[in-house]
Amino acid sequence: MTAHAELDGIKTTPQEALRLPRVPEPADENDILREQLEYLIRHAAERSLCSCSECQRYLRVRALLLEIFSEPEPQPVQQSAALPIAA
Ligand SMILES: [Zn+2]
Repeated sequence: MTAHAELDGIKTTPQEALRLPRVPEPADENDILREQLEYLIRHAAERSLCSCSECQRYLRVRALLLEIFSEPEPQPVQQSAALPIAA
């Protein structure tokens, strides 16, 4: 009498949840928005704003979502990144 099969089926890790297969078929846009937002928040929390492209996206989204609250703190977003200067 072994219950190993049931235990293996229950075993899930957070890392597996992050590696969901990218299916080509269109998903619910709201789910995508939530997924992206959670991803960006998680990234910013883990890397503490390493100022990579993901962090830039986080800061832009955060500024938009918190716009109605009119934060008193200054925005650390650098706007020069959007203007590549090429001679
Ligand atoms: Zn980053």
